[in-house]
Amino acid sequence: MSQTLFTLPKIPGIPVKGEAATYPIGRIFCVGRNYAAHAAEMGNEVDREAPFYFTKSAANAILSGETVPYPPGTENFHYEMELALAIGKPAFRVPRAQAWDAVYAYGCALDMTRRDQQIRERDKKRPWDLGKDVEDSAVFAPFTRASEWSPEEDRRIHLEVNGETKQDATLAELIWKIDEIISHLSGFYHLRPGDLILTGTPAGVGPVMAGDRLTGRIDGLDPISLTLTEAE
Ligand code: MN
Repeated sequence: MSQTLFTLPKIPGIPVKGEAATYPIGRIFCVGRNYAAHAAEMGNEVDREAPFYFTKSAANAILSGETVPYPPGTENFHYEMELALAIGKPAFRVPRAQAWDAVYAYGCALDMTRRDQQIRERDKKRPWDLGKDVEDSAVFAPFTRASEWSPEEDRRIHLEVNGETKQDATLAELIWKIDEIISHLSGFYHLRPGDLILTGTPAGVGPVMAGDRLTGRIDGLDPISLTLTEAE
């Protein structure tokens, strides 16, 4: 094996409750507009033909509890509270009924977004990378294995900024369900362990500022937090 010319910053592994080892981050897929009320607040209608996706780099992932600077290139940095799922088995062209077998674990996640950039990109029909693939923007709380938790419809998904409720919904509002997303995405990718899927955010997204502390919860899962400091 030849050595690499230099060493990249280490990507953190996500803790899993009850496991000594962490879950390594491979690819990060994100579902867009998966709660009708959020699609509406963004001025969009829900496309019920098929889900759509964008991706975030694993290099831009961080763990819950961190403090990060307000990012450059935005004046409207938004939180999006989401349910994340972690793939644990290869899945390629799987029907819905088999999709559940591919899920290893679930956790709380944040999809932090340069909303001004994303809207500019969207309106110009350009890719969303500057809006979405932001440094430190994919935030993961510790995972709970699928054998110990399931995404029942009455589970509440909730986000507070400095103690004030901003997002409050249940998983019943998910338009594309977990098994539908996996089945659909597995038609385009050979899903494999290390792949993470963020399943979209409910209504109530909004801006954060330096000094803000975000706390997100989904019933039965470990909570997630993030603190923002002044821009560099
Ligand atoms: Mn999102």
